[in-house]
Amino acid sequence: MTNIASAIRELHEELPSNVKLVAVSKFHPAEAVMEAYRAGQRIFGESRPQELYAKARELPDDIVWHFIGHLQTNKLKLVLPYVSMVESVDSLHLLEAIDRWGRDNGRITDILLEMHIASETTKQGFSKEELMSAVSLAASCPNVRVSGLMGMATFTDDEDVIRKDFAKLVAARDEIRAGAGLYPGLPVDFGVLSFGMTHDYRIAVGMGADIVRIGTLIFGERTY
Ligand SMILES: *Cc1c(COP(=O)(O)O)cnc(C)c1O
Repeated sequence: MTNIASAIRELHEELPSNVKLVAVSKFHPAEAVMEAYRAGQRIFGESRPQELYAKARELPDDIVWHFIGHLQTNKLKLVLPYVSMVESVDSLHLLEAIDRWGRDNGRITDILLEMHIASETTKQGFSKEELMSAVSLAASCPNVRVSGLMGMATFTDDEDVIRKDFAKLVAARDEIRAGAGLYPGLPVDFGVLSFGMTHDYRIAVGMGADIVRIGTLIFGERTY
């Protein structure tokens, strides 16, 4: 068995059945995706539009693609026809563009709003205040289905820092749910949380992640 296949099998055994595994295949070739696919993995995450587009057209149709990277509005047509979810909606401008694309193409796109929870300022995402406006706008967009929130913790070995970051995401989700009346159009099952990567997914699972996004542990180091 290849390393990729055994990593997939071990993760499928380890993760609770209600947690979705997104295998993050960015920067890895289609053949690596196929190794994971043959081991039973079906959900894959990509962060670059052109790469997602090429892989989605080449690889089996029953692969479920999640887009997890920064998305520019001029790249929507490379991404939206192929993905079942955009996890990384990080601006109102992008939200509106996805809604408009959906109206013009007869599609409702499932999205997560990305919240900035890390201490690094380089990471993307809405601040807590901006997030509440984004939820409000997303709930009113007919061609967008806002399912929940995504976040990335500070890159550190300090578990307390990671837990505090993740806790912000959980708290924001709970607050939005509690105030659902403020957001007409919000799906009744709003609340999916995507958090946890190779170095912190166990913490994430313990804190109630619904989706974990794991790349390096499955595919090895990326060469940029
Ligand atoms: C690259 C990436 C991941 C996967 O990171 P690993 O540390 O390789 O598991 C998860 N989420 C996002 C948004 C990413 O860009």
